Amino acid sequence: MEKLEILQHYFGHKGFRPLQEEVVDAILEGEDILMILPTGGGKSLCYQLPTLLMEGVTVVVSPLLALMHDQVVALKANGIEAAMLSSMQSLEESQETESLLRQGEIKLLYVAPERLSNGYFLALLHDLNVNFFVVDEAHCVSEWGHEFREDYRKLSLLKEQFPATSIAAFTATATHAVEQDIASQLCLTSPRRVRGSLFRENLMVSAQHRIKDGRAQLMEFLKAHEGDSGIIYTLSRKSTEAIAGYLRSRGIEARAYHAGLPTQEKNRTFADFVADKVQVVVATIAFGMGIDKSNIRFVAHMTLPKTLENFYQEIGRAGRDGLEAETLLLFSAADIVQQKSFIHDLPEGPYKEHAYGKLEQMVRFANSEACRHQSIASYFDDTIEACGAHCDNCLAPQSSKIDITEAARKLLSAIYRTQQRFGLHYVIDVLRGSREQRVLENGHETLSVYGIGAEYSKAQWLTIGDRLLELGAVHIGEFKVYHLTALGTEILKGKETVDLKEIRLSIRKAVKKKEDFSADYNSDIFEKLRDLRREVAAEKGVPPYIIFSDKTLKDMSVKRPENREQMLEVHGIGEVKYERYGEQFLTLLYTLEAPG
Ligand code: ADP
Ligand code: ZN
Repeated sequence: MEKLEILQHYFGHKGFRPLQEEVVDAILEGEDILMILPTGGGKSLCYQLPTLLMEGVTVVVSPLLALMHDQVVALKANGIEAAMLSSMQSLEESQETESLLRQGEIKLLYVAPERLSNGYFLALLHDLNVNFFVVDEAHCVSEWGHEFREDYRKLSLLKEQFPATSIAAFTATATHAVEQDIASQLCLTSPRRVRGSLFRENLMVSAQHRIKDGRAQLMEFLKAHEGDSGIIYTLSRKSTEAIAGYLRSRGIEARAYHAGLPTQEKNRTFADFVADKVQVVVATIAFGMGIDKSNIRFVAHMTLPKTLENFYQEIGRAGRDGLEAETLLLFSAADIVQQKSFIHDLPEGPYKEHAYGKLEQMVRFANSEACRHQSIASYFDDTIEACGAHCDNCLAPQSSKIDITEAARKLLSAIYRTQQRFGLHYVIDVLRGSREQRVLENGHETLSVYGIGAEYSKAQWLTIGDRLLELGAVHIGEFKVYHLTALGTEILKGKETVDLKEIRLSIRKAVKKKEDFSADYNSDIFEKLRDLRREVAAEKGVPPYIIFSDKTLKDMSVKRPENREQMLEVHGIGEVKYERYGEQFLTLLYTLEAPG
């Protein structure tokens, strides 16, 4: 079969995406490759296709068990022989895989990097005909990256032991420094470098200063996502539970996920989310690594991530099917203080040094009024035009600023008058004339600043406090106590002024969404197709998106195929998929009422 036939037959795609064919050809010609392409860009196909045209087996090194497992399941669903070897398997399973390998029955073998330090496994590899190696998530070899893994360092042995076998390395994110590091760590000899644009047009990216705990902003954001799958990231275990509970109280199917939960519970949440049984997962960063669910429609961050790499990777989990998805970052100056304290506790070394710089760039991004996509691209040494319509900054007109010097002076004065011995919430209570017992016990109702701040809500005062923190007019000491800095004193004396983006004092309405790519799909039919997909998935014990993606079902709801030929015209359906599931879906479509 030819490349294009294979593409259609096994993967159900009509043509290559940009850059895919170049990589496929280079692999077929035995070149080393270094490909950088954003999540959802279609990297897997670049190595899964050529191996089908070559003798032998392709060995894929991947850091995440869950991801490997998903890939193997998805490949098998497409009729491609794939397997994985991991420490999680029983001896029988590994032996079975080994014997299939020796019989040449496997085209793609997934392994974790640590397996390559295993002498027995290396000997096996020497016995097999390995056509090429794949290093997935290749940025993990680099100490400059954000996810350095010790085991990846050993991958230099691939070239030492198999000098004649080519290596194809893939990653979604790499600055030029990381790219350089990957090439040298893997001992690639003048690899072909293929770098795709990082711009993900289907992601609507927004960032806002968090107002109070951000829940009102989150609810506003979620209005546009009724019933959609999404992930909400937050920093602490406690807050995952609190936010999930809050969402449930508002009628949203949400579950918490963090490293402290029992493995069983985590696995169930992961599986239920993938199977569309849980709508929203509220997680610490532990969640979503290696997740391959293509129909995640939104990702929200309740606090500032520590690097732009993390941020880009986390929002990258949304919209992998290419349909519109939305992301929201909520942050405050207090987050920065907290992230800095985390870094402070890291062991000394180059990683720690980079960490401060990376945090600073994350902060600059969050505060920036430039195109979000452009800022991300430029961080990864890519140059693109401003997106025009896919981020908040491009959509919103330049926001106007107001002078808040008067309010700032009230707040600073209240901090000062309460002897710089309290946290921000308490100081605001005093300003707003609270009758709280603690205030009265301290006798603070007698202060001149008591009750002079009724014109702003508590949330607004918190924003003003955040602005002062950003400017360095206050700093947070032990026990979250607020102190004035030299600048704070200047402001208090009326020698400096303070401004604020007007929008920060009100809850910003969600940016107007641009037209849905697939607005013209038939939602009634889509729902029915989705139900059938869920049934079939449950029956086969695989995640729904392995059967058909959302995009496929939407396309099907519009095209309403009546026979095999028409079914093969639907996005993402090749012969193998048709053989497996085509009939069932045709039957369902046949039983539905004719339109009109
Ligand atoms: P990555 O590994 O780069 O994150 P994937 O390999 O998971 O991306 O691909 C993302 C999505 O794009 C998948 O749903 C895949 O089926 C789809 N895809 C890949 N190549 C093509 C293509 N040539 N035409 C249409 N869809 C494609
Ligand atoms: Zn933009």
